[in-house]
Amino acid sequence: MNDVKYDLAVIGAGILGISHALHALNKGLKVALFERHQKAQSSTVRNFGQVVPSGMNPKWQSYGRKSLEIYKNIHSKSDIGVKQNGSIYIASNDEEIQLIEELYNINKANDYNSVLLSKEECFDKYPNLNSNYCKAGLFFPDEISVDPRIMIHRVLDYLKLNQNFSFFPNTLIKEIDSASENCVISDSLNKVYKASICIVCSGAEFEQLYFKEFYESDIVMVKLQMLRLLPQNQIKIPGNILTGLTIRRYESFYDCPSFKSIKENEEKNSFWKNWGIHILFKQEADGSIILGDSHEYADVKQKDEIDFYLRDSISEYFVQEAKNIMHLEHWNIDNQWLGVYSQCKENDIYYKIIDNKVHIITGIGGKGMTASPGYAFENINKIFAF
Ligand SMILES: Cc1cc2nc3c(=O)[nH]c(=O)nc-3n(C[C@H](O)[C@H](O)[C@H](O)COP(=O)(O)OP(=O)(O)OC[C@H]3O[C@@H](n4cnc5c(N)ncnc54)[C@H](O)[C@@H]3O)c2cc1C
Repeated sequence: MNDVKYDLAVIGAGILGISHALHALNKGLKVALFERHQKAQSSTVRNFGQVVPSGMNPKWQSYGRKSLEIYKNIHSKSDIGVKQNGSIYIASNDEEIQLIEELYNINKANDYNSVLLSKEECFDKYPNLNSNYCKAGLFFPDEISVDPRIMIHRVLDYLKLNQNFSFFPNTLIKEIDSASENCVISDSLNKVYKASICIVCSGAEFEQLYFKEFYESDIVMVKLQMLRLLPQNQIKIPGNILTGLTIRRYESFYDCPSFKSIKENEEKNSFWKNWGIHILFKQEADGSIILGDSHEYADVKQKDEIDFYLRDSISEYFVQEAKNIMHLEHWNIDNQWLGVYSQCKENDIYYKIIDNKVHIITGIGGKGMTASPGYAFENINKIFAF
């Protein structure tokens, strides 16, 4: 048994776990963070790194807005690669123009900064847009992008500067006994750790620890597919680029008065609908461009229906549709990958407390990079209310 007793043990060094560790440390608590890999390898490093409160419903938008503050604050102390180049939603027809105008009015009422751009103003900002596609845009100047494959490790390095922080990489937690006064946490080499409170942010894989809770939950597994184009030498596409299919998908637009009728008008059996596709662009520092993404779903009890194949037809669709939206130097694919996250059917996050000491928090869905820091800030203040 490790003699140290931690105030908080966090299982999982993805964005949700790291965010809880960060805020607990800011409260002066002694924190242990356990990660089964050397470094996080799951959805936290497989995503775009678009921090887009603009796409969320009002509750999650406010966590996202808090996250913007938190990312920018860490970046002001230690370079975690935050780039504030904003987000743009590009409308390709009258219906999508209608929706961005309605969202603009909702944002005004919510005091969230956004700017409607004419077709010409969009071209001034993004000269590579295809004039047949872009009809108007809605721009969010305060939003940021990160490269999650770099950012998450830099945040971890930042946490390591705090004397109250202990990081345990390559440490698979296999059991948490919370029946007595403390949480007694055992790893796969039978080392044992003690903590007052344990937060389990193990992403889509929490059945290893809480099998019954996992299979009794309303969790849905979601598989996403992405690709990266080799670097473009001259072209610069700053910030988060979201397009017409995103306007038809993201939750912030659900509150637009025309949303329902516009959705009802959509063709039922289109390829993009069947595979849950919308087209997003995000350029990395080396000039490469990430394109995605698609969504396939399976209930927890049928989770093995989520296979491991990368579908050529989906990648071909990304490229074909992206060509309609943007002119690029080339369309040469560097690599392709899939990511899996979990979400819930009924609730907007999975949250279960065991023995008043273990908080299982997962199923944040597609909101994680945007909302986790803000959500964890509120949650740590609730759990450690002093
Ligand atoms: C393709 C793709 C694109 C996305 N794009 C965006 C985007 O642009 N913006 C956005 O806001 N969100 C995006 N998301 C969603 C976002 O990536 C997720 O919401 C977020 O990463 C979830 O983080 P997490 O910490 O809950 O889980 P994870 O990243 O899965 O982390 C969980 C960690 O727990 C560890 N772990 C599990 N079990 C144990 C154990 N027993 N012991 C020790 N360690 C354990 C795992 O190894 C893992 O590192 C995207 C997701 C995908 C897949």
